[in-house]
Amino acid sequence: MGDEVIIVGAGIGGLTLGLALHHAKVPCRIFESAPEIKPIGVGINLLPHATKELAALGLEPALANAAITTTDATFFNRFGQLIYQEPLGRAAGYEHPQFSIHRGDLQMILFDAFVARAGADKVVAGRHCLGVEQDEAGVTVTFVDGPGGGNRETVCGRVAVACDGIHSVIRKQFNPDEGEPRYSGVNMWRGVTHWKPILSGASMVRAGWLSHGKMVIYPIRRTDADGLQLVNWVAEIETPNYRKRDWNRPGSLDDFLPAFADWHFDWLDVPAFICAADSVLEFPMVDQDPLPRWSFGRVTLLGDAAHPMVPRGSNGAGQAILDARALTAALLEYEPVAALAAYEKQRLEATTRIVLTNRSNPPDAILREVFLRSQDKPFRAIEDVISRDELRALSDGYKRIAGYSVDGLRGQGAQAMQA
Ligand SMILES: Cc1cc2nc3c(=O)[nH]c(=O)nc-3n(C[C@H](O)[C@H](O)[C@H](O)COP(=O)(O)OP(=O)(O)OC[C@H]3O[C@@H](n4cnc5c(N)ncnc54)[C@H](O)[C@@H]3O)c2cc1C
Repeated sequence: MGDEVIIVGAGIGGLTLGLALHHAKVPCRIFESAPEIKPIGVGINLLPHATKELAALGLEPALANAAITTTDATFFNRFGQLIYQEPLGRAAGYEHPQFSIHRGDLQMILFDAFVARAGADKVVAGRHCLGVEQDEAGVTVTFVDGPGGGNRETVCGRVAVACDGIHSVIRKQFNPDEGEPRYSGVNMWRGVTHWKPILSGASMVRAGWLSHGKMVIYPIRRTDADGLQLVNWVAEIETPNYRKRDWNRPGSLDDFLPAFADWHFDWLDVPAFICAADSVLEFPMVDQDPLPRWSFGRVTLLGDAAHPMVPRGSNGAGQAILDARALTAALLEYEPVAALAAYEKQRLEATTRIVLTNRSNPPDAILREVFLRSQDKPFRAIEDVISRDELRALSDGYKRIAGYSVDGLRGQGAQAMQA
């Protein structure tokens, strides 16, 4: 075991790193706090920069089977008027698709592939990390059998990678004064509803604006025998209250439905759609200020542990996947300490830009511009408010910053994953 890369956390980043390292023949083992790996969460989007890496790991068929292959991004104001529409994924000329998928489906695809390829003993559930120590020879990671649990044990390895999400204990160990995640001033209510296909049946819809209420809506599972899809939605409203983030905190319709009470559109009856939800969860939109460093000798951070970002650019999972690729390539090329430094050099600045842009100018900046310029009134024609070129420039600007412009991606290899 002493020669393994110790991966803390079997979320999207930890499992992708495990797959990439196994593919590259770098020994590794994943330790997960939860007592078992269960499909948790709701919707997540994988943009072409991330699906390219997952395709290189041979996962595109499984993803295509479970997910919706997203075809278009469509923006409306709160009066249901169309602002802008653009193709996504292959429809936009990318070599790889965009997938909208249930986070649980994605996690189980990664988990099943890792277990099938590396072996069931390479992922250990019920092991909650407390911290890590290191010397010149390696790392020693301490685990108990759950948060606040017993059965303390230590595991030795070559390198430790914190993939333990936004509340990362290893991030806290190296940044003890950082404090709780930073509240953005926006509260979110999210849910899934079984509903007939909306628009193209593969559309990513954003509507309204945060001050009055914004909705993000996209399907995440194929049409069932009754002609219904599982459709993910998030209602986002500026709210001064901060409540501690918990992905599974139940939400109440009374707290947000009034903001959408008159959203009866020809493309969707939003109040009826929300009221038909299977369940509603609430959590605040949070991130953390970017860190000056992630790597400390033989220990580094990856995914949300390294760069938690507000979910306004569909990049949380994707950037964790890109981190996994970069770290694998670095470990193949350099000795451990130099590898972790090289990984940080490649990824820290790039993700810092995304964290900050998600605060100021994510793709929904299109909605903000129209909200401000139209003074929140219905328009006669969108061209009276903003030109199509400006709308496209807003959208393309984010793609460049987040690393998935069509030109930027074309021709780039996915070397490490193919190794
Ligand atoms: C339960 C859950 C539900 C989510 N649902 C959504 C969603 O619906 N939509 C969305 O966009 N994003 C969701 N996310 C976040 C999303 O998965 C991440 O933003 C993104 O995929 C980056 O992945 P990550 O691997 O860095 O973090 P995560 O996917 O959050 O994975 C972190 C993993 O580390 C484990 N862990 C935490 N602490 C410890 C510890 N001390 N020791 C060992 N293991 C530990 C966690 O149990 C988890 O499995 C969810 C995250 C979680 C944990």
